[in-house]
Amino acid sequence: MANPEISKSDAQWRQELTPEQYKILRQKGTERPFTGEYYHNKAAGSYLCAACGQELFSADAKYESGSGWPSYWQPVSASAVETQRDNSHFMVRTEVMCSRCGGHLGHLFDDGPRPTGLRYCINSAALQFRPVVEEGSAE
Ligand code: FE
Repeated sequence: MANPEISKSDAQWRQELTPEQYKILRQKGTERPFTGEYYHNKAAGSYLCAACGQELFSADAKYESGSGWPSYWQPVSASAVETQRDNSHFMVRTEVMCSRCGGHLGHLFDDGPRPTGLRYCINSAALQFRPVVEEGSAE
């Protein structure tokens, strides 16, 4: 990404993020499948960028892909994420990034469910889940 709104030095990111978050968000790593915190999460709420807090995906668009990573058929808005071609690892893939901080989130595939047919395949470690707070719940 050319000019993300939030731009920090590598040293700053390294300080603010956990080693696992840093490896994925800043070094484009991938967590091992079926190990991430949110793979099985079915609770209502939204998924924020673990680096900058921008809202990225709604639980409403999460589905069971069988891939081993949290999967969504659309982002919360078209402007929440950016994509770019990724030729690493001898593959041609589409990389998905947070539009606000440029953090690497995962990849986009075209084998998702209707209505979009898209699969945003996202690392749990790049996300922070924010559950819906039910009205009237005990303080
Ligand atoms: Fe971000």
